[in-house]
Amino acid sequence: MGLIIRSSAIHAAGCYTTTPIRKGERVAEYTGHRLTKDEADIAYEDSPITYLFGLGDGSVVIDGHCATMFINHSCDANCETSEEDDRVWITAIKNIAAGEEITYDYCLYDGDENDEARCNCGTKKCRGTMYAKTEIRRRQAAAKKAQKKSAKKKSAKKKSAQNKTGSRA
Ligand SMILES: [Zn+2]
Repeated sequence: MGLIIRSSAIHAAGCYTTTPIRKGERVAEYTGHRLTKDEADIAYEDSPITYLFGLGDGSVVIDGHCATMFINHSCDANCETSEEDDRVWITAIKNIAAGEEITYDYCLYDGDENDEARCNCGTKKCRGTMYAKTEIRRRQAAAKKAQKKSAKKKSAKKKSAQNKTGSRA
């Protein structure tokens, strides 16, 4: 399997496969330095672009440093992410042809309150933002509360696994 990085219609650079990938096949691992949530929030407080992937309960994050960090978000993706023994894997959920761009749903959470994380995937299923559905609800509730309180916490948004079958409670 060969992954290459080149410019993408979705966002800046994207990750493409040079060979066909079968549904169910593992495409790559999301690797990088591991930081605590607090370290990541301080390091990326004012950074619009981050490559952070939250593990388990979110207390540890992977600061992406690999080809996989260039994989773009799509609301109708051809891959999904899963956690297994504190490692994050990207697995195909469709058959992918050679030359296609690899995508997965970022399921973002923990973003700054005024960061919309707008989605440009352009698919019919697009929800307009890269935030996870649970995060969209949380943000709506937080926005209501924010009318009363003016103090807002700053934090860097992070990706999360769609299925956490491998993580232990
Ligand atoms: Zn979208």
